[in-house]
Amino acid sequence: MKVGILAPGRVELADRPEPPLGPGELVVELAACGVCGTDLEKLRGNYASAGILGHEPVGRVRSAGPGAPEALAPGTRVFVHHHVPCYACAVCRRGDLTFCPEYSRSNLDPGGFAERFRVSADHLRKGAVLPLADAVSWEVGTLLEPAGCALTAIRAVGLPAGGSLFLLGLGPVGLLYARLARSLGAGWIGGAELSPLRRAAAERGGIDAVVDPRDPEEVRRAVARATGGAGVDRVVVATGAPAAVELGTELARRGGTLNLFGLPESGSQLRMDLQKLYLRGLRVIPTYATTERDVADLHALLASRRLVLEDLVSHRLPLDRIDEAFALAARPAEALKVVVTGPAFGGERPGAGPRPVGPSNAR
Ligand SMILES: [Zn+2]
Ligand SMILES: [Zn+2]
Repeated sequence: MKVGILAPGRVELADRPEPPLGPGELVVELAACGVCGTDLEKLRGNYASAGILGHEPVGRVRSAGPGAPEALAPGTRVFVHHHVPCYACAVCRRGDLTFCPEYSRSNLDPGGFAERFRVSADHLRKGAVLPLADAVSWEVGTLLEPAGCALTAIRAVGLPAGGSLFLLGLGPVGLLYARLARSLGAGWIGGAELSPLRRAAAERGGIDAVVDPRDPEEVRRAVARATGGAGVDRVVVATGAPAAVELGTELARRGGTLNLFGLPESGSQLRMDLQKLYLRGLRVIPTYATTERDVADLHALLASRRLVLEDLVSHRLPLDRIDEAFALAARPAEALKVVVTGPAFGGERPGAGPRPVGPSNAR
C-alpha cells in the first residue's frame, strides 16, 4: 500500500506492507487527512519528533481484531486521534494530559498519510477512535484534531464571557480558533495575518477587525480602538514568529493572558524587557495538541451545527499527489486548509453535511 513519508527536503510516496492486525486493534482505511503546520515544520527539519506525518485522519474501519469494541465494526466512519496520554503518571494526574511523556510517543502505524493504518489496542481503550456523526463530512472530520487543539487551548487559558481576543496569525488553525471562540461566547475578536487570502477568510468568518501585521502600529491601534486603550483579555500567538510574542504583550490588558499556540521553530530566541510581563501581570500559557476528550466535545459542537467549519478546507488532493498538497499548504497566499484524500474518500451517506463552499479545488 502507499504511504506518504519524509524524505530529505520533501514528502515521498513509498510502498509499504499492509499494517498487521492484532487483538483489540483496528485497521482503518483512509478517507482524508489534513496537512498540518507541524507536518510542514517536520519537512523543514524544524521539529524534533519521531517524524511520523499525518495526524488528522478520518476513514472507515476496514477490519477489527478480536476484542475490539463492537461499536467500531468494519464500515464505521471514524476519526482517529493519534496520541494518547498514559493517564497514570504525575503529569496526567494533574490534568496536563498533552504534556505526558508517553503522549507524543504513541502514534498510528505507519501514520495518517497511508492508505490504511493500524490503531493500537491502547488507543482504543483510551477512546481515541470516535465514530463520526452523519452531519460531519470527511473534510470537516479532518478539522477535528486542529479544532480540538483550539478547544484545549481555550479551556487552558479560560475565555471570560463576552471577553475580547486578538489572534496573531490567521492560518487554518488561527481561523478555527477564532470561530470556536465565537461559538463559545467571545465578544470582540481581532486578528493579524500576512496573507490577503487568509485575511479575507477571516473577514468572511466574522472576525471583527483584521489587520496586516507588517504595520505593528496599525495592530496596536485596532486593539486600542476596540478596547478603549485597555488591551484585550486574551492574545493568541498562532504563529511561531518570536516577534509576535513581544507584540502580543503590548496588546494584552493588564492581568491578561498570552496563549502560545503556534509551534516556534526549534532554537528560536526571544529578547524582550521582562518588566513588560512582570509589571503588567501577564500570564503566558503555552498549549500543545489536544486530547480525545476535547475532540469528542468538539465533535458534539460540529454534529449539532453550533460550529460550522466547511469553508476552511480550500483544497483536497489524492494521496499520490501528497507532495503537491504539502507545497500548496506551505503557500499561505493560495491555501487555507489542504486535505489529502485516501481510498475511502466519498461515499458519505446521504444527509451528511453540505459540501465545502469557498475557494475549493477538486482537481
Ligand atoms: Zn495538526
Ligand atoms: Zn501520563
